[in-house]
Amino acid sequence: MTKTILLIEDEPGICMAVKDELEFEGFHVRVETDGLAGLASVLQNPPSLVLLDLMLPGKNGFEICREIRRRGIATPVIVLTARSQEADKIRGLELGADDYITKPFSLGEVVARIRAVLRRCQPEHANDVVQRGAITVDFRKHQVFKGNKLVELTEKEFLILALLMKRSSEVVTRDDFLKTIWGEEVYVTHRTIDIHISALRRKIEDNPEHPMLILSVRNVGYKFNAS
Ligand code: CA
Repeated sequence: MTKTILLIEDEPGICMAVKDELEFEGFHVRVETDGLAGLASVLQNPPSLVLLDLMLPGKNGFEICREIRRRGIATPVIVLTARSQEADKIRGLELGADDYITKPFSLGEVVARIRAVLRRCQPEHANDVVQRGAITVDFRKHQVFKGNKLVELTEKEFLILALLMKRSSEVVTRDDFLKTIWGEEVYVTHRTIDIHISALRRKIEDNPEHPMLILSVRNVGYKFNAS
């Protein structure tokens, strides 16, 4: 299957050279030159791999990388950095990038790194689909199924469920939810989380009054019942 590489980079020269080289090597290539458009492209249709410049108009590479991971999208990311500072590389990796390439780079190096990261992220995106009991989350397609029935969730409900399932059987505190899902939106209170959990239960529980999937842990938070 042809792998799709999404290049998010605002320097036309680099875009053209990398695109040509990757297409020559048999990849399908999408290019975005703005951070916001780049992020939207990842979210709407996750590629096989993202080549991500750090300094971008709209939204910088760090923010994009964090947002991709926050939404549970497992697509590998290689950061392209013009800076040689070690701190940037480390920060990129901490935010969930899989590798980095320092500019200026050779096209051969880009191809080699892409192939290495794709190989490392085999077998076929093991984390893209998580199943616990009757519930299946497809992180690539951003879909949730109960049995084989598609469940329509809001974005926040999806993120809450994804976090609970990833930490299956561990308690997720209300502060964990706030930090991971709402981030800087400080006006959100614990009560907001409880409201979202109730809505989520109405959509996925057989009997929302007696939840069997999302369990309350008194005074602490919630946990997903994987058994
Ligand atoms: Ca740039």
